[in-house]
Amino acid sequence: SKAKLFDEKTDTRTSFKDVAGLEGAKEEVQEIVEFLKNPDKYTSLGGKIPKGALLVGPPGTGKTLLAKAVAGEAKVPFFSLSGSDFVEMFVGVGASRVRDLFKQAKDKSPAIIFIDEIDAIGRARGKNNFTGSNDERENTLNQLLTEMDGFGTNTNVIVLAATNRADVLDKALMRAGRFDRQIYVDLPDIRERKEIFEVHLRPIKTSETLDLDFLAKQTPGFSGADIANVCNEAALIAARKEKKAVNKQDFLDAVDRIVGGLEKKNKIIT
Ligand code: ATP
Repeated sequence: SKAKLFDEKTDTRTSFKDVAGLEGAKEEVQEIVEFLKNPDKYTSLGGKIPKGALLVGPPGTGKTLLAKAVAGEAKVPFFSLSGSDFVEMFVGVGASRVRDLFKQAKDKSPAIIFIDEIDAIGRARGKNNFTGSNDERENTLNQLLTEMDGFGTNTNVIVLAATNRADVLDKALMRAGRFDRQIYVDLPDIRERKEIFEVHLRPIKTSETLDLDFLAKQTPGFSGADIANVCNEAALIAARKEKKAVNKQDFLDAVDRIVGGLEKKNKIIT
C-alpha cells in the first residue's frame, strides 16, 4: 500500500544530536539543511541548489540516520524507500512508484527523499544483477534520472541516496545535476565509538559509571549499528538476570555475543 511505501515522517524527531561522530559528513549535510531552510537566499544570485547527494559507506554506519537528521534539522518531510523493495516487491511497477514518490515530495516541498540501497536499482545498465528482470530495473533507473532532471531549480526537493557499493553505480547517476556530491560515512574510529556509546547509553539504566574508553577499545571494527546492538543486548542480558541496572560485565557479555554474530555472518559470506 502507499502508506507503507512512503514512510513519510513529518514528525521531526531525529536531529544531529542523535548522530555521533561523522563530523565531516555532518558538516557536508549541514549545507543541505541550510538550502532546505532558506532556498531563496541561495538562489538569489543565480546559483542552483543541488538536487542530490550520495551517502557512501559500509552497512550500519548511520547513513539512514543522517538522512533523517537532515529532514529533522530542516523540519521538512522525509520520504523514503529502499532499492531492494523494487527488486522484491514492486516488480512491474518500479517506474510508476518512482513517479508517485517524486510527485508526493514535490507537493510537500521543501522535502527530503531518501533512497536506501540505491545500488539495487542504480547498477550500471547492461550488467546482470541476477535478480529480477533487467529491463524492469532499467526502466526504474531511467525514471529516477528523468525525475531528477525534471525538477525545476526551485523545486526544493533534495534526494539523498545511500549505498555501500558506489563502484557499481551507473555513472549517469553521478552526473552534474543528479547525485553530484558524494559524502563518505565510514566506520567509526575509537573516539567516535565512544561517542556512539554515549548516545545509545542515554536510555539505559547502568549501575556504575562505565568506562567508555574501555568499551570503545573492546569494539574495533564495530559499526554504529553494532554498538546500538551491544547497548540493547546488555540491557536485555541484565534484565534476564533480574538485575536492577546494567553493569560492565553485561556489556562485555553483549560485546562477545555481537562478535559471535559478526563472525558467523562473515563465515556465511566467505
Ligand atoms: P545500511 O547501509 O545497513 O542501511 P545505515 O548506514 O543506513 O545502514 P543506519 O540504518 O543509519 O545505518 O544505522 C542503524 C542504527 O545504528 C541507527 O538507527 C542507530 O541506532 C545506529 N547508528 C549507526 N550509526 C550511528 C551513529 N553514527 N551515531 C549513533 N547511532 C548510530
